[in-house]
This record gives sequence, structure tokens and C-alpha cells, in this order.
Amino acid sequence: MPTQITDNIYQIKTRMPFSPTPDVCMYVIKGDDKTAIIDTGIGDRTSILAAKKIIGELGGLDLIVNTHEHFDHFAGNVKLKEFTNASVAAHEFAASIIENPMILASKKGKNAYLNVLSKLEPTKVDIGLKGGEILDLGSIKLRVIHTPGHAPGHVCLYAEEEKILFSGDHVIGIGTPYVGREGSKNGGMSDYIKSLENLLDLDLKLLLPAHGPISKKPHQKIKETMEHKLRREKEILNALKSGEKTIEQLIKETYKLNETIMLKGSILGYLSKLKQEKKVIEVEKNRKFKLDEEF
Ligand SMILES: [Zn+2]
Ligand SMILES: [Zn+2]
Repeated sequence: MPTQITDNIYQIKTRMPFSPTPDVCMYVIKGDDKTAIIDTGIGDRTSILAAKKIIGELGGLDLIVNTHEHFDHFAGNVKLKEFTNASVAAHEFAASIIENPMILASKKGKNAYLNVLSKLEPTKVDIGLKGGEILDLGSIKLRVIHTPGHAPGHVCLYAEEEKILFSGDHVIGIGTPYVGREGSKNGGMSDYIKSLENLLDLDLKLLLPAHGPISKKPHQKIKETMEHKLRREKEILNALKSGEKTIEQLIKETYKLNETIMLKGSILGYLSKLKQEKKVIEVEKNRKFKLDEEF
């Protein structure tokens, strides 16, 4: 069932079918001109019914905004479009996947995950965003902020007057999001940290993430997220002080876990930032990394 967050914002939560990721949250926003939904979840029956009910009570849906190109944020697009005339808006880097999600199914992963990906249906992105646009719902205006790092096409939506940030997966309610090398054209982590720093300039009193609980201390939440990522980066640098290391060794020494695709991606995200900052170099073709002597 939807939860009313403010006079004109409603949250619909849905359970992720697998993975430790906390519930996915969709937000319905009622302006006096238009009604929008931010993210459409995994397209499961329960959440679509809940969305249909609230959208019906509010008098229809005009706009679907997908914060980024991960399936748990756009899989419900098709079902919501079936009974509304809503336009779909997403960052132009996210559009290629939202319009052609079948390419996700060719990726490696667990069977349950691939099974979900193989059933995704495409939706046309009507409004390609770059960042900086204002999505005008009348009484509420949402400013689009491009926040690459978790995904190249990630955007946060800022309701300036209400001081509310819809943070998608950029800042989440529990833990911190995955940031891998593929999270931006610059290798993920450096853009991720920059995108977080930019959010600290905003006047905020409420953060509404796509996973986990909402936060009434947005700046603290953003700072904690940044500190967590920078702490891990320091651990990687410390691990390299004793000599060159493979990715597997770095995972063992920093996460204390065995290698997985996600952990490998995370380490590569950090290493791309450290290489750009000339703190780390890759030992030729060996997939081993060491501290840059000049650092
Ligand atoms: Zn995501
Ligand atoms: Zn997500």
C-alpha cells in the first residue's frame, strides 16, 4: 500500500525478488498540473496494483521518470503505460538500455537474475534528459541533476522549494550503492564522489531514496556515504603499501571476502579513480596494481 510522505508525495515499496538489496521505492508526486512517478520498480503485480490505485485516485499519470538504467527502476514502465498516456523521461545515457533492455540479459549473473532480465520489455524514452532540466508539475518543480557513478545515466530529482531530493540509487537508505568501473565514462568512482559533492550544495530537509528508509538528515546521509567510499579507498591504498597486488588479493585484504563479479567491479571502480589521480599504476598486462612511486 502507498505511504503518504507529504501532502503530495506518496511512496510505494516493493520487495526485491532476490539479492540483499532492500525494498525498491517508487514515488508518486501530485502537482496541480501534472502527476509524475519516479521509478517504476520491478513490475510485480502488487506494486503495479498499488500504483494504479493511487494514480487513479489522483486523476491519472502524466510523467514517468526513471532515475537510471537498472531494471529495478524501469521494469514497471510498460505496465504503467498500458493504462495511462504518461511520457517516459530518463537520462539519454540510460535511454539505450530502457529502450532495449534485452541487452542486459546477455550479461553474466545468477540464473534468477537473468530470468528477470530476459522478461524485461522495452519502452520508448520520450524525453531524453541531460541534467539541468526542470520537470514542471505545476505546484512542484523537479530539477534534474545528472549524477553518474552508480550508473552512467543516473539522475537525482530535486524539488527545490520543498527541499526534497529523490536520490535514486545514488544515495540509499541502508549502506552505500555499488559503484563499479562501468558506472560512468570516467571509470565510476571519481564521478561518483564528484556527484555526491555537488549534492552537498543543495538546501535539503528530506532525502527520498530508491532503496531503504527515507532520511530527514540528507546532508549527514550524503557525507556518511562519501566517507564510507573514501575509507574503502584508503584501505586499498594501505593494502598496496606492502607491494603490488592482484584484484583478488585486494578484495581479500579490504572486503575480507572471496572474489565475486560485484566486488571485482567495485575494486576496479576505486582503482580507476586512483589511476586517474596518479596514486596507483597498473603493472603491465598483469592485472596487478601498485602504488605510483611519485605518490
Ligand atoms: Zn541501480
Ligand atoms: Zn536499485
